[in-house]
Amino acid sequence: MINRMPVLFVGHGSPMNAIEDNAYSRAWAALGKTFEKPKAILSVSAHWFTRGAKVNDSTNPTMIYDMYGFPQELYQLKYPAPGSPELAHRARALIGDYVTVDNNWGIDHGTWSVLNKVFPKADVPIVQLSVNAMLTPEEHYTIGQQLNPLRDEGVLIFGSGNVVHNLSRVDWRMNSGQSWAQEFDQYIQEAVFAKNHDAVLHYDSVGQAAELSVPSIDHFAPLLYILGASDADDTISTLNDECTMGSICMASYLFTAKEA
Ligand code: ZN
Repeated sequence: MINRMPVLFVGHGSPMNAIEDNAYSRAWAALGKTFEKPKAILSVSAHWFTRGAKVNDSTNPTMIYDMYGFPQELYQLKYPAPGSPELAHRARALIGDYVTVDNNWGIDHGTWSVLNKVFPKADVPIVQLSVNAMLTPEEHYTIGQQLNPLRDEGVLIFGSGNVVHNLSRVDWRMNSGQSWAQEFDQYIQEAVFAKNHDAVLHYDSVGQAAELSVPSIDHFAPLLYILGASDADDTISTLNDECTMGSICMASYLFTAKEA
């Protein structure tokens, strides 16, 4: 029997976390030892933000270096995890045929910068599902609900983004968050722990702090998929619960299934 898998949202922040040994990346590395190795990972990455939902079904997905102006070392990192056509087709069956197969994209830094630390051997097959830019928050959440059965099939449903992500407001000198970033991050954290998903879905009710924290839904949406895939009786834990560079918050949430 396969134990029910957790679901995981990670705030990925700077791509440099992939190669740096820092508090964030150490927490990711420790995470991989807290649950059983999945059979495969379905990754919803902020960096595959597309018109319409897409999934990658390659046996050998390409590694995408979708970031610019970083040190050469980062572009030399290899994360040669295999794909899983079987999981891609299963996900499509659960969500619907309107999800198109697209192997022009592969595994982007939203996925590899984190999984390189969580599963450093790159031996767990990965399928990426795009964030469909055309959807409402409720519709992203619904896809998460549709994917929920994968938890009983040994699949880790993984969302990679950031609760607060505003690159136009980044202040490199800061190692905390602006007051609006902290306010929004706190609002989301309280709602997540209270399992008040409506409050997360209606994040725009926060007003200006929400507008500044989520200028575009790409980095926020992966959390909605993960909340959708969570169970009412999951145990929730958080890691990297802090903001940095003024306008990036790193909070990550792990939802662990109740022991059978
Ligand atoms: Zn990002």
